[in-house]
Amino acid sequence: ATPTALLAATGRGAGLGILVRGPQALEGLRRVDTVVLDKTGTLTTGSMAVTRVAARTGGLGADAALRLAAAVERGSEHPVGRAVCAHVPDAQPAALPEVTGFTATPGRGVAGRVDGRLVEVVRPEEARRAGTRRKGQTPKSGLPRELADVVRSEEQDGRTVVLVRVDGAPEAVIALGDTVRSGSYRAVDHLKRLGLRPVLATGDSEGAARAVARELGITEVHARATPEDKAALVGELRAQGRRVAVIGDGVNDTAALAGADLGIAMGSGTDAAIGAADVTLVREDMGALADAVRLARRTSATVR
Ligand code: ADP
Ligand code: MG
Repeated sequence: ATPTALLAATGRGAGLGILVRGPQALEGLRRVDTVVLDKTGTLTTGSMAVTRVAARTGGLGADAALRLAAAVERGSEHPVGRAVCAHVPDAQPAALPEVTGFTATPGRGVAGRVDGRLVEVVRPEEARRAGTRRKGQTPKSGLPRELADVVRSEEQDGRTVVLVRVDGAPEAVIALGDTVRSGSYRAVDHLKRLGLRPVLATGDSEGAARAVARELGITEVHARATPEDKAALVGELRAQGRRVAVIGDGVNDTAALAGADLGIAMGSGTDAAIGAADVTLVREDMGALADAVRLARRTSATVR
């Protein structure tokens, strides 16, 4: 394609809500044959809502655990964090206890100190590596059986589940629901019709991943993928000769976006994701993804 045609197409892309970082990105988009899609905040709206809080018997209780979790999550920009905070009835910043030493680990969770206690809100798998096994815990999960059962059943129902730990003790689990973006159906359908292979990669559980994949007709699923796993997956696909686009929204997607032939960020995503991407979907419309590929292909076809 001539530079003029590419520039014209770049302008048309902007009209469709697709921000292309230079004509080379459009060329890259034309050649892509595999699209690795993030789940939370990309295929789904990322407007999560808490559906259940379950505390262990004899512990702090659901209300106290939720408040501690919300206090720490106030520092998070992740959909889980926003939902947990929104679920506390009076979540005005002043009403929650103060947190020191806040840390966020992409794809794993957050931690901070409240009144000298270490509060962590993390994916349930983190309990497994905690080491010290207490009486009544299921050996596999590292959780009390009553909490492990909730995790299993909620994840089977497609929920995202996080664990609240206080000074290392598992106190509660929080289940959250998310909604598939309406544009995701069209996007996946059109990608397939254009001959592109959709691959779902998420840090969330197998159950939550499968629920979305089934709904959208995606058969290749990689669940519980850490940010490093996502980047490694992209590397493997490229080593197989695939030309890989990654589409994501989170800090946890940054390495995969940067390592792809083409990185695509959701406009609603984090600054880190947008900074690492070649293309940004400005409107929260996943359908624009297929439009972008079609536009890129049409551009080369008219000029040749
Ligand atoms: P996805 O790849 O679907 O966007 P992430 O990699 O962002 O998901 O998150 C993976 C998992 O890490 C979540 O399902 C959750 O268990 C945990 N997690 C991430 N961020 C947070 C947070 N702020 N609070 C609690 N858990 C979190
Ligand atoms: Mg995400």
